[in-house]
Amino acid sequence: MKLTFVSGAGTVTGANFLLEDGAEKYLVDCGLLQGCAYCEPHNYDPFPYDPASITALFVTHAHVDHIGRIPKLVRDGFRGTIYSTAATRDLATLMLADTLDILGMEARQSHRPPLFHRTDIDMALSLWKEIEYDKLIALHNNLLATFLDAGHILGSAMVRIARGKRSILFSGDIGNHHAALLPEADVVSDATYLVMESVYGNRSHDTSASRTERLLRAVKGGISRGGTILIPAFSMERTQDILFDLRTLIESKNLPPIPVYVDSPLAAAVTEVFEHHRTLLRPDIASRKGPLFSFPGLTIVGDNDKSHAIRTRGNPKIILAGSGMSQGGRVLSHEAALLPHQENSLVLVGYQAAGSLGRTLEEGAKRVSILGRDVRVKAHVERITGYSGHRDQHGLVEFVEPLTKSLERVFVVMGEPGASLHLAQRLHDYLGMNVHVPEKGGSVDIDL
Ligand SMILES: [Zn+2]
Repeated sequence: MKLTFVSGAGTVTGANFLLEDGAEKYLVDCGLLQGCAYCEPHNYDPFPYDPASITALFVTHAHVDHIGRIPKLVRDGFRGTIYSTAATRDLATLMLADTLDILGMEARQSHRPPLFHRTDIDMALSLWKEIEYDKLIALHNNLLATFLDAGHILGSAMVRIARGKRSILFSGDIGNHHAALLPEADVVSDATYLVMESVYGNRSHDTSASRTERLLRAVKGGISRGGTILIPAFSMERTQDILFDLRTLIESKNLPPIPVYVDSPLAAAVTEVFEHHRTLLRPDIASRKGPLFSFPGLTIVGDNDKSHAIRTRGNPKIILAGSGMSQGGRVLSHEAALLPHQENSLVLVGYQAAGSLGRTLEEGAKRVSILGRDVRVKAHVERITGYSGHRDQHGLVEFVEPLTKSLERVFVVMGEPGASLHLAQRLHDYLGMNVHVPEKGGSVDIDL
């Protein structure tokens, strides 16, 4: 078999891996390149394989850097089967529509044609097949594929493709320990090859206890300064994590009741999908009675006009808005208005990619450009890493540990180069693994 790291190697985003078994070709993920001005135009590049020749696409989860180019794949001729869990399909339906809007706006601004159209999304959804965790999918030439729970976002999966006793495991993104809402990722103890993510390959997280503690402190600090607490958060998973923790803190009276605004119609729709698939959440959460994400004081803002109006409401208050890395979305106008005032707080709870405004703010910039405006940063900027949906460097090594007996080779992908190389070194030094950090477009032969 031939494995090609089409993209998503040497960088976090744009996951797209090609597995060729003679004439049969399979893809794992087909994501958008995001977060850097020089890489995003490459989303328009033709795929280096013929999309019409692909038998099936396995989708690990509904983050845009794993699904965002699926409509383009369809547009370019793909008519195979798309496999994912039902929750991933439901979330992908929302995320692709949102991506269409964002990309359409960017395309108009830069006088480019759109990357894809609504009809391409509809065609993709018509090719989609839902598969439960642990169910076997029979492919050609005695290959079997299985989705395992990755504990990263709702519906997220690892993909194992096996023939007889030999197999290749694509980790997708691997969920953090003690996630706010999700159960732990499945422990996998048998695979011949592993293609694994390394987003936090060189960083360590706060523990989950300190995560909630730090959120509590950040919000209390914001309340005592009498300002607005702005939390840039992705509409999917992070918004629900934070809402659930705020609800718990308010209900337990650790926090006084405070108005909370979720400024995102997408977040509202995603929250409904979470309620619909609540059996996938941690059993202690799934078994609660009543809606999981609503509490007195919470307002969900759908209408764009009302988005601006939120800021005029009395302080203190909390606003959650996307995007999580301040790369577009409603959070930008809030940041432009709120950051120049020292009573306000910016609480960063997610991964901030290199080159994003979020990363610049995380690194302590005192002046930034937002929506063409020069903005001075006087607000308190705090970072809470414990909400990450990704394992940190220790968690990633731990993930590989049960696999050491069977693994012949590990390919470290989906990380910035420093993170991938650091993780590769640790896997080699601590576990004696044969590790390779492939370059974008590189291929290897594997024996399956
Ligand atoms: Zn992800």
